[in-house]
Amino acid sequence: MCCILALCSGFRSVTIGCMPAKALPAKALKEYRAKRDFQSSPEPSGAQKTKKKVKQPIFCVQKHLASHLHYDFRLEHNGVLLSWAVPKGPSLNPADKRLAMRVEDHPRDYADFEGVIPEGYGAGIVMLWDTGTWESESPDIDRALEKGDLKFKLDGVKLKGSWVLVRTGGGPRSSNGQSRSWLLIKHRDAWAGEVKVTEVAPDSVKSFGDFADILAQDTPAIWQSHRPAEGGEAGAMLREIIEEAAKRKVQRNAKTAKKSKRAGNAKGKKRQRVKTAAR
Ligand code: MN
Repeated sequence: MCCILALCSGFRSVTIGCMPAKALPAKALKEYRAKRDFQSSPEPSGAQKTKKKVKQPIFCVQKHLASHLHYDFRLEHNGVLLSWAVPKGPSLNPADKRLAMRVEDHPRDYADFEGVIPEGYGAGIVMLWDTGTWESESPDIDRALEKGDLKFKLDGVKLKGSWVLVRTGGGPRSSNGQSRSWLLIKHRDAWAGEVKVTEVAPDSVKSFGDFADILAQDTPAIWQSHRPAEGGEAGAMLREIIEEAAKRKVQRNAKTAKKSKRAGNAKGKKRQRVKTAAR
């Protein structure tokens, strides 16, 4: 726990590389864009281009409460984020083989996305659960992906050390005919252990809050009808989070009103400026 907290407090110093200047091929992100309506979703469309040179590719893990809770594991490669949905989330225990379903590549600027997707594909709450850089231990990344055996190192806030993604047979297939099912496994090293990282460190590495905090920043009442998850575990979780977010929003508004009344308008404005600068 202490170790994780120490890592978290060091997060601000984690440097993140940028997308290479070369343009993406037209078919990159086609599946990603086809699934989304960027008029109604706050998710990045991937149209933005940054020109800074890459130093080290980044990785991120987004905890995503949609119809089911899962963790989206993403590795930057060739200007996009290769993506896998991991229902149980990553485990530091090498004995755990975590199912990871390969999903569509995401745009590079998705890597620090956190927020509420009000409707449509992936509707729900997205939390930036971990981020950092990654390094392939397989000499040729494309060949390793083709073969279905990618070894790599992570240097994140919560996840570190050596890992492997191995493709298994069966299940749904991608357009190239390959199985979408992979396993995410921690290699035995100094960063392996039995600590349940998803339970011990459940919160955001960006806002440092939980799902309710993220929703409270937005509109807790957003899903008055057509909640992304109604039944089951995710449905129950979402109901609680919506209630909690509404409470926190009311509390926060009351606090802000009280404070600015006491301190006067000028001070309130200053605080707001400091807050914005810290973001
Ligand atoms: Mn997802």
